[in-house]
Amino acid sequence: MTNPNSFSGNPAKLARWDERYLGLAHHIAQWSKDPRAKVGAVLVQQRYARIVATGFNGFPANVEDSAERLQDKAQKLQMILHAEQNALLHAGREARECDAYVVGKPVCNVCATLLIQSGVRRVVAAAPRAGTGSYWDKVGLLAIDMLREAGVEFTPVTGEQLDRLGLNRDEARAAQDPFSTHQHSFDFGGEGE
Ligand SMILES: [Zn+2]
Repeated sequence: MTNPNSFSGNPAKLARWDERYLGLAHHIAQWSKDPRAKVGAVLVQQRYARIVATGFNGFPANVEDSAERLQDKAQKLQMILHAEQNALLHAGREARECDAYVVGKPVCNVCATLLIQSGVRRVVAAAPRAGTGSYWDKVGLLAIDMLREAGVEFTPVTGEQLDRLGLNRDEARAAQDPFSTHQHSFDFGGEGE
């Protein structure tokens, strides 16, 4: 699906702005207190290069994110909001027509449903891997399937972009690796990996 606001006539310019927003999402991800995974999301209205909202993974406002709670994986999973969810909630109706940039994890199936339903038109994020059979790759691929079916453009972040951004490649790989030690943060109590 063509995005009329995605610098379609100037892919180099689009890539340059994509990297700026990915860098910002990575910066915001560092604000997360989650000891296992730090994820950042930025919603942008491309027509005016306007940042509509940002988010990182964490507990709801005024719910204490103590180290004890964050270390209790099972309980944490029942309490935490994903970066995309926080950004969408902050944006409200203004999420419509935005592009979403996500750094730290692939987009999960739940976030995909929310991004679609909020009217987001394009998602830029790490791609899940095909054929691994892992729970996390499965939900990640389901997310991509839903985005595409709904007409939401998906742009996978490339290793070259991460290099140019100065992001740690190991960190980037860990974000895409369902077997990494970081990956457990966002399982929703599913059947495991
Ligand atoms: Zn999610």
